[in-house]
This record gives sequence, C-alpha cells and structure tokens, in this order.
Amino acid sequence: MPSPRYWRAIPSRLRLEAVRCRSCENVVYPSRRICPHCHGTEWEPSELSRSGEVVTSTVVHVGPDDFANEAPYVLALIETPEGARLMVQVTDCEPEEIGPGTSVNLEFRRIRAEGNSGILCYGFKAVPAG
Ligand code: ZN
Repeated sequence: MPSPRYWRAIPSRLRLEAVRCRSCENVVYPSRRICPHCHGTEWEPSELSRSGEVVTSTVVHVGPDDFANEAPYVLALIETPEGARLMVQVTDCEPEEIGPGTSVNLEFRRIRAEGNSGILCYGFKAVPAG
C-alpha cells in the first residue's frame, strides 16, 4: 500500500497547491508551518502555474527499486513563475537536453506502480516545453 505520507500529500499533489506567506508573499511547495524567509506562520493557498524553468538537474543512473526500469532519468529542481521550487522527474526527453534555464511544463503523470500490489501513484512530472 502507498504510505500514509503519500495519502496526506494527495491534495497538494493533485492540484499542485502551494501556500503563500501572508507576511512576505513567499510561495512554498509543498506547504509548511514556518516561512523559511520571514518565519511567518500565516498562509493562504496558492495554486501554481503548470510551467517553470529548470534551476538545476541531475541524471539518475541507479534509481530506487520502483524506478529501476526508468534509469537513466533526469531529476530537476524547477522554479515556477510564482517562485516556488519543486523537485520532479523530467520525462519525454534525452538527459542531455535538460539544463539550467530549460523551460518545462508540469504534467500530471503516473509516477510509479507501488511494489507487487501494482497500485499506481500519480503526480506531476516536467516535460520540456515546445
Ligand atoms: Zn514569509
């Protein structure tokens, strides 16, 4: 079965819902209790754009068991226009096409099948734009 952490994260995973700090307007994803910028604790929901730019990326050659069939694959830190940063897999590309500044779209995709049960987990992946 998918872990409790997976189920708790479903609302933010499905809607790409981040939070905006009411004090300094910093946008973070996933949500957290204390703003890393100003230590504020008051938040409002903020849905992220389905696009962004690669800040940094790496190629994974030996992944965890659930991703073993997909290696090599690209993991990238993506910054959305709102300023939120999230780590996602980049798909539908050759690893050498991806680097800092690459424009991507965030698309809802199957992430993996969990263990032998075959339960499917979904979330966002980045796909090169254009
Ligand atoms: Zn803040």
